[in-house]
Amino acid sequence: MEVKENHLLKEYNTFKIEVKAKYFVEVNDIDELKNILLDKKYSSQKKMILGGGSNILFTQDFDGLIIKINLLGINIFSQDEHNVTIKAGAGENWHDFVLYCIYNNFSGLENLSLIPGTVGASPIQNIGAYGVEIKDVFVQLEALDISTGNIRIFDYGECDFSYRGSIFKYELKNKYIIVSVTYKLKKNPVFNVSYGAIRDTLDSMGITELSAKYISDAVISIRSSKLPDPKILGNAGSFFKNPEVSQEHFIRLKAQYPNIVSYKTNTSNIKIPAGWLIEALGWKGKTFDNYGVHQYQALVIVNYGGSNGSDIKNLANDIIKSIFDKFEINLEIEVNII
Ligand SMILES: Cc1cc2nc3c(=O)[nH]c(=O)nc-3n(C[C@H](O)[C@H](O)[C@H](O)COP(=O)(O)OP(=O)(O)OC[C@H]3O[C@@H](n4cnc5c(N)ncnc54)[C@H](O)[C@@H]3O)c2cc1C
Repeated sequence: MEVKENHLLKEYNTFKIEVKAKYFVEVNDIDELKNILLDKKYSSQKKMILGGGSNILFTQDFDGLIIKINLLGINIFSQDEHNVTIKAGAGENWHDFVLYCIYNNFSGLENLSLIPGTVGASPIQNIGAYGVEIKDVFVQLEALDISTGNIRIFDYGECDFSYRGSIFKYELKNKYIIVSVTYKLKKNPVFNVSYGAIRDTLDSMGITELSAKYISDAVISIRSSKLPDPKILGNAGSFFKNPEVSQEHFIRLKAQYPNIVSYKTNTSNIKIPAGWLIEALGWKGKTFDNYGVHQYQALVIVNYGGSNGSDIKNLANDIIKSIFDKFEINLEIEVNII
């Protein structure tokens, strides 16, 4: 385990922001993790946990210790003829883990194919796509308490999962390091193809009999055509969460903007796609020097190369202000700003 000084972070964040960490270390097992936390040289340093860097916007050099989590391992905890309980190390690549499950005929994660990042970050914002969130298959996680070094198990109820959120993104932010996550998957699957785009893509692929593999292929095809590949164009996926408004607020908006797009929620609130709001105000495709709003995806802010995170943050704030001024809706940022 080597602690590097003034380490360049460009290759460790999908926005490809060129900042440095004062100290940077990659840990491969729990002992290494405990050792670095106990090391007196770094005890007073500010700390940040890093997975795949796909939900982060660095706006400045990090004046402290970045700990990149590489803890690996996939183990079956228990299984019967219907279900399997499977535990994965926090450093496992999320998409590879999804493919591993599909290969073994364990179903439940196929709709979450091709989401960048690691298993350890999956509960942080309760990753979700195409009608599925990880809370739907979550059993428990193991996390190391940064202040004591003790491992604590968090079960479903203790994680406070919400839309793109959990207790680890809010109340317990930077207090625990997730070291493994356990999911319960199905051997006799009930597939979720409620999102129109999946059904249509399966149809165009000529699929009549569903399987986790076919759904995963469909999701990969949709995502590849819709979202910019961070290997080619720096980005962190959706920059904003989709906001919810009250029925009364929505009625007012609908009267003014008859084409507004909306979805029902589990509550009386109405969800409005942030992408629609951003596009309605003409932000889609707007480019400023080397950054801007993606030309096909209004929810995605991109770095065309060499941009700094502060400019991107300022652009996000300008978008938020314009949406509030026009629609009286407070857009919330999904990406973690550092
Ligand atoms: C092209 C693209 C598409 C995307 N699509 C989706 C999508 O469909 N749905 C979705 O929900 N998200 C999506 N995302 C966002 C992102 O992929 C997820 O949030 C992912 O879970 C982040 O994983 P990561 O390992 O890269 O986390 P990082 O970006 O490294 O970290 C994110 C946050 O989690 C913390 N963290 C990371 N690992 C740990 C750990 N082990 N313990 C404690 N804290 C930790 C970090 O400190 C940070 O605050 C997308 C991103 C991109 C670039």
